[in-house]
Amino acid sequence: MGHFGVYHVIKRECEAGHSTENYATETPQVFLSLNAHDVALAQEVSDNGIVMLTDYFSHFIPRRNTGNHANGTTPLHTLEDIPCSERLCQENAPITQISTLWPQVLNIISDSSCDSATQTKKRVQFQNSFTIPDADGTEITYELVGRVIHRTEHFTSQLRFGGKTFVYDDIKCASLVESDDPDLLVRPDTGCTYYVYHRKSEKAQVSLFSF
Ligand SMILES: [Zn+2]
Repeated sequence: MGHFGVYHVIKRECEAGHSTENYATETPQVFLSLNAHDVALAQEVSDNGIVMLTDYFSHFIPRRNTGNHANGTTPLHTLEDIPCSERLCQENAPITQISTLWPQVLNIISDSSCDSATQTKKRVQFQNSFTIPDADGTEITYELVGRVIHRTEHFTSQLRFGGKTFVYDDIKCASLVESDDPDLLVRPDTGCTYYVYHRKSEKAQVSLFSF
């Protein structure tokens, strides 16, 4: 199945063995923003206060973007039991599994605020590639292919393909300009930045079990 954002699937099962699977939200998260609370947790266990993207995703908590938990979200594993949907069944149906479906193209917004008036220092180091581990020891791999930087009413973009990096800035030049910096896309930048990652692994789904 092709999908253009991050989906979470919640599986519930009652004592009698009736199970259901439902998407946590009707629409996918097309732009994934990093949760400031989870960034802070990852920062506490880092050596130098810098959080690598791989660190962040190794502790990734599936959330719904509404609620009263950290940054106005609800961690999906905290959702309450609901009555079993099977007719005549009297049991409750607790969550037994949360799966996350990771898209082919993943957009991530940099962790600082995109409102320049309240811009804070970025704490997450974006990498040329990062992984998302699964409970069974396998992992999903993403590679950075581009980023869009917004600064003072102007967008510029940077691309990475064929082992080369390129800049597109239509104020300076109307075509792609090759850069001599292979790590251009992971250089710290003060603008509001949208990172574009391409999934390299066939594997696209990770699951959390038993709560
Ligand atoms: Zn039931």
